Amino acid sequence: MPVITLPAAQVAAGAGHLPPVCPRHGEPATEQRSIKLISKPPAWAAIFILGGGILYLIIVLALRKTVKAPAWPWCATCSAQRKKLLAIGLPLLAVGLLLVFGAIAMNSDASAVLALLGIVVLLAGTIVAARGGQLPVTGALVSGDGQYVEVKQGSDRFLMALNRGRTRV
Ligand SMILES: [Zn+2]
Repeated sequence: MPVITLPAAQVAAGAGHLPPVCPRHGEPATEQRSIKLISKPPAWAAIFILGGGILYLIIVLALRKTVKAPAWPWCATCSAQRKKLLAIGLPLLAVGLLLVFGAIAMNSDASAVLALLGIVVLLAGTIVAARGGQLPVTGALVSGDGQYVEVKQGSDRFLMALNRGRTRV
């Protein structure tokens, strides 16, 4: 799977500036979605976790580069993946919450174990549901300098379509 690198300006230009092919899965786009793409925090930012979650969050948000993609190619596999992850993640969240509240309501010796189990299920549900977000499904990230949009596990078919478009112009 090739790494796809697109100039941020091309992505932000919207409809007609990207081939109608999903960059992640290589399938024909079923729709063009408006998605706010973001950059990953640099590795050194992790040191600020020691200073507390809020400080880390401020640093990450301050450094974050965003590219607004008004017409990102979105395919049937994107939709299926999102649906599947949400169908697993959201019920897990609900079960986790039930376990935590059930443990509090029960107020017995088993409560601590039940609450712990609930928190674990809650965390698992959050992780799965978060992966079903539009952004993780696209697999696209903005580069640290904000100049490019990268799809690490891109599709050959998208690259081919992109190159065809370039030679034609
Ligand atoms: Zn796709």
